[in-house]
Amino acid sequence: MSIYRKHLFDLPEGMIYLDGNSLGPLPKSVPARVAQAVTAEWGGNLIKGWNLDGWMAQPSRVGDLVGRLIGAPAGSVVMGDTLSIKVYQALSAALQMRSERRVVISDSGNFPTDLYMAEGLIRHLGHGHELRVVAPEEVTEAITDQVAAVMLTQVDYRTGRMHDMADITARAHAAGAVMIWDLAHSAGAVPVDLAGCKAEFAVGCTYKYLNGGPGAPAFIYIRPDIADAVQPALAGWLGHEAPFAFDLDYRPAPGVERMRVGTPPVLQMTALEAAMEAWEGVEMAELRAASVALCETFIAEVEARCPELTLASPRDAAQRGSQVSFRFEQGYAAMQALIARDVIGDFRAPDIMRFGFTPLYVGADDVTRAAEVLEEVIKDRLWDRPEYLARQRVT
Ligand SMILES: *Cc1c(COP(=O)(O)O)cnc(C)c1O
Repeated sequence: MSIYRKHLFDLPEGMIYLDGNSLGPLPKSVPARVAQAVTAEWGGNLIKGWNLDGWMAQPSRVGDLVGRLIGAPAGSVVMGDTLSIKVYQALSAALQMRSERRVVISDSGNFPTDLYMAEGLIRHLGHGHELRVVAPEEVTEAITDQVAAVMLTQVDYRTGRMHDMADITARAHAAGAVMIWDLAHSAGAVPVDLAGCKAEFAVGCTYKYLNGGPGAPAFIYIRPDIADAVQPALAGWLGHEAPFAFDLDYRPAPGVERMRVGTPPVLQMTALEAAMEAWEGVEMAELRAASVALCETFIAEVEARCPELTLASPRDAAQRGSQVSFRFEQGYAAMQALIARDVIGDFRAPDIMRFGFTPLYVGADDVTRAAEVLEEVIKDRLWDRPEYLARQRVT
């Protein structure tokens, strides 16, 4: 089976969608499946749906589907909440595991919410922890034996620069620190070997490369051998060993299920579960090869056609995720002009034009066509119009 399976997605005719790294498109399997969950399950079965339709088991069932793509064994991933919440859960657990240490290392390539959640947690704990945010290339030397946790996003959301998970995790462990990986731009984008790298925690979202739809639930992984020792900070009833015993005291569920908090978003999770069908038979190594080929073609085409743009992503494919970014002073307006011509990417301040490459529904022809349109926009200054220059709320 080929990796390219655009027929499984509902993409508007003529649109070249290079923003699946931000919000994946609608898989065709989703609308009917969600309609069935609404009408037959909720409408017809009502409260019986929790057992009859498997709603209560869904966060673990879907967790296994995601786990396969990130090298996590069955039963080690659970879905729920948003990524920001999962970051908080992983970091709070990590700090408890290293209660004698006070330093958290992250890097300036991290997505701000991860850093904000860490700051908020540290302030709330009031134990004098310190968040040290260093440059991405300085992470390894910053990992000293004072470090409780290293918390990094593998693929930089702006540039696509990719950390070496095995190498950094080994460094963290050599220093006695707990490793947390954010796989927001890795899951479904690049091969990940979570079990092999031995990181304690990983988190990520599913509305980007996994096409779960806006607001799709996040995931969290705990390395199975330590999961039963993890103390959840968000000790919700559905992470309890026996939620329907309604005990007055909290006892965590076995394994990663303790990271469940409250009632799962069944309709949203159903959309995700149906979306995961598009991944059947996909081997990540094969997807990676296709992704690298698309990215290399795009870089070559854009550099040949648009000398005004500067590559912001690593040139070496081995150090780049599944996206390509270019710097251009009028990047915001240029992206608006591109979008108006049905080539969809996005913009990240201050000057980054970002393009995601998703081989499930983007082919080589799309890449060449996107570069042609970009050339027109830049050469003919098509971006220089008031409606493209005015910033909207979401960029
Ligand atoms: C997309 C992304 C998020 C988003 O967090 P939400 O809670 O899902 O809004 C967080 N962290 C990283 C690294 C991301 O790329």
